[in-house]
Amino acid sequence: MTGFLRSELTAEECAFLDSAAAFSRATVAPNAAAWERERRQPVEALREAAALGLLRLETPKDASGLGHRYMVKLALCEEMSRADMAFAFSLVNTQNVAARLAFSATARHREEHVPALMSGEIFGATALSEPGAGSDFSAIRTSATKTDGGWRLDGEKGWITNAGIADLFITYVQTDPAAGWRGIACFLVDARRPGFRRAEPYALMGGHAIGAGGFTLENYLAPEDDMLAGPGDAFKLAMKGVNGARVYVAAMCAGLLASSLETALAYGAARKTFGKSLLEHQGLNWSLGDVANDLEALRGLTLHAGRLIDSGEDAVMAAAHAKKFAGRVTLPRIADCIQSMGATGLREEHGLARHLACAKIAAYTDGSTEIMNDRIGAGLLKTYGPD
Ligand SMILES: Cc1cc2nc3c(=O)[nH]c(=O)nc-3n(C[C@H](O)[C@H](O)[C@H](O)COP(=O)(O)OP(=O)(O)OC[C@H]3O[C@@H](n4cnc5c(N)ncnc54)[C@H](O)[C@@H]3O)c2cc1C
Repeated sequence: MTGFLRSELTAEECAFLDSAAAFSRATVAPNAAAWERERRQPVEALREAAALGLLRLETPKDASGLGHRYMVKLALCEEMSRADMAFAFSLVNTQNVAARLAFSATARHREEHVPALMSGEIFGATALSEPGAGSDFSAIRTSATKTDGGWRLDGEKGWITNAGIADLFITYVQTDPAAGWRGIACFLVDARRPGFRRAEPYALMGGHAIGAGGFTLENYLAPEDDMLAGPGDAFKLAMKGVNGARVYVAAMCAGLLASSLETALAYGAARKTFGKSLLEHQGLNWSLGDVANDLEALRGLTLHAGRLIDSGEDAVMAAAHAKKFAGRVTLPRIADCIQSMGATGLREEHGLARHLACAKIAAYTDGSTEIMNDRIGAGLLKTYGPD
């Protein structure tokens, strides 16, 4: 199976994707199990990816980036997740920070940080979640207090991708608890400055290449121009950006599922029971048919949402549908692929157990499956509810 988004891309975009796919086959796929066993983020492989330009993806050309459109990012996410979604997720998080800072009003952010992020010299992260606030983003408690010439930041962030390796954190904080979401602002936090303390990355059931962990800010002094978005704007910007993230997580799930199905089909064609191949047994054939059916539906929802984002149209509902469907089907359908391979499906070398853990992670990141339900329900209420 080739990437389902390939037909959306130009020849030049396909060539970029081909080089990413070759890197993924040569470096990510053969090493992902070891990264998982060692519970570590492969900084060396992230730097190799940077050398191929993967961290320059969306940064505009006039800032030495590649200036690719959203559909290319989507295709890259799908392609790389076939080998390891955790690696792809970590990579994309740094590229997101580079692309975001390329639009910063501050020359220092653009000139000092963007080249270092794109080259993989340093890594980036985006920190909304806290130990006490995940889905309910407006309940964050990390505080920003005005000082002479800047702001003092105090609090704790948790469940942040790349927290173990990042130097730059786009960090959301509360300037006025009484104002709720309207009080939330966004700062660039530099881990090399005083007042920043990194926690150990979490030990998880899988997905360690994501490097999820936390950090504490204690009397961290941020200069005025490190405020990337002020109260009122920051929350709206985060909500706008999250649609893109939801759809690329759905594309990553499509990559996980496609890779799992391919593995199960290859095994099922070769393995014989009761005198014929596993695939010739209707019970098993239909089970994998169900996997293929859900994969096609997931691809369709992802493609639809991706096209809306690329053309700048409202993608709130389409993104929620794609992410919700991904969260609902990827985990059980990967389990079906494992089941179809018998006990062999559990073996590390097939990668399906790794994919299973990542499918579970995908059901939380950038809005959980339940929050997608909430979004879809709110949309229905708005259109069909009582006046
Ligand atoms: C590997 C990993 C990487 C992550 N990376 C990042 C990152 O880079 N940056 C970042 O900011 N965050 C990150 N997150 C955090 C992620 O965004 C949160 O896990 C997510 O928002 C859910 O929050 P929570 O885990 O605190 O669950 P909670 O908000 O405590 O929710 C617990 C459960 O209740 C459900 N729930 C909550 N509210 C409702 C409701 N109103 N109705 C019905 N059900 C509800 C949730 O869906 C969930 O199942 C990451 C998480 C993981 C696992």
